Amino acid sequence: SLRCGIVGLPNVGKSTLFNAITAKQAEAANYPFCTIEPNVGTVLVPDKRLGELASVVKTPVIVPAVLEIVDIAGLVKGASKGEGLGNQFLSHIREVDAIIHVVRCFEDSDIVHVEGKIDPVDDIATIETELMLADLDSMEKRMDKLRKNARKEKELLPLVDLAEKIIAGLGDGVPVRRITETDEEREQARQFFLLTSKPILYAANVAENDLPEGNDYSAKVAEIAAANGANMLVISAKAEADIAELPEEERPEFLESLGLEMSGLDRLIREAYDLLGLHNYFTAGVKEVHAWTIRKGAAAPEAAAAIHTDFEKGFIRAEVIAYDDLISLGSEQKAKEAGKMRSEGKEYIVKDGDVIVFRFNV
Ligand code: GDP
Repeated sequence: SLRCGIVGLPNVGKSTLFNAITAKQAEAANYPFCTIEPNVGTVLVPDKRLGELASVVKTPVIVPAVLEIVDIAGLVKGASKGEGLGNQFLSHIREVDAIIHVVRCFEDSDIVHVEGKIDPVDDIATIETELMLADLDSMEKRMDKLRKNARKEKELLPLVDLAEKIIAGLGDGVPVRRITETDEEREQARQFFLLTSKPILYAANVAENDLPEGNDYSAKVAEIAAANGANMLVISAKAEADIAELPEEERPEFLESLGLEMSGLDRLIREAYDLLGLHNYFTAGVKEVHAWTIRKGAAAPEAAAAIHTDFEKGFIRAEVIAYDDLISLGSEQKAKEAGKMRSEGKEYIVKDGDVIVFRFNV
């Protein structure tokens, strides 16, 4: 399943937020796919369509999409040069699909800020700089080999151009997500596994009494997010930790007292899922209804890989029914008769809510 990594400077509230997530995970613990790793939490992505599908295909088993949240501790100034946990940190972040960047927007003189003052603008710059330096380093290491290969294989020349453009951009302090301009460039850049090409969500961690609007600090985070084409949400890690400890039935009242409709974690999950470019398709049969998470824009073979990598390798076709068609027609058979089951090839871009059967070679 897809992984979001929580990053941020020390003492900004990452673990507090992560612990609230793991408390929630206990509720999901009877799902067999939950990863048991101390710094990995699994959350279920709520989706009303699952229940509807289950009644159409007559199965009692519903498997929601899950998102894994990883607590990645150890980023400090100089990490790209090996300070702190340095390289270990960077290898963890390389493995995630998206980044949740927690930014300290609460004041508390008892809790030391590593830079001595609350300054979201500086904090974000510190982390982005470390990630860009790491990307620059890894691109420079790739360049020689890439150029050498391109001398033999001319079709690699556009990739060399892209690599040069990325190196120049990083040198100017621009993250890769803003250097790549077209879908094609973004697609090509994926093979470089760069940190600053990953989608990012800023979580402005404010004091409980600054909910729900936030404060002057979180307003700065919002400005940066807007300028970066990134997304942000205002959250209180401490409030989330308190909510997580309450019995389920007492939560709505507590949320209301904070002026919230939904817990910050639910918003975080939903935002992480939607805004970080993810959506899901379904498989639906008598055995189970299952939501599978994919990137928006993923073609059918990549979508198939969410189920099993062999499905991608041996991909032949995808039999697709749109969710609305299946629900309105009432069964797969009726959808088929109405001509609403499409047979799609490997170029097909899977849509949110597609109900799919994959045909593949093993
Ligand atoms: P991490 O180093 O980023 O993982 O930070 P922690 O989650 O360990 O938090 C550092 C300290 O800040 C802990 O003592 C938390 O209880 C405290 N903390 C986290 N969030 C808040 C908050 O919203 N308000 C206040 N006052 N303290 C917080």
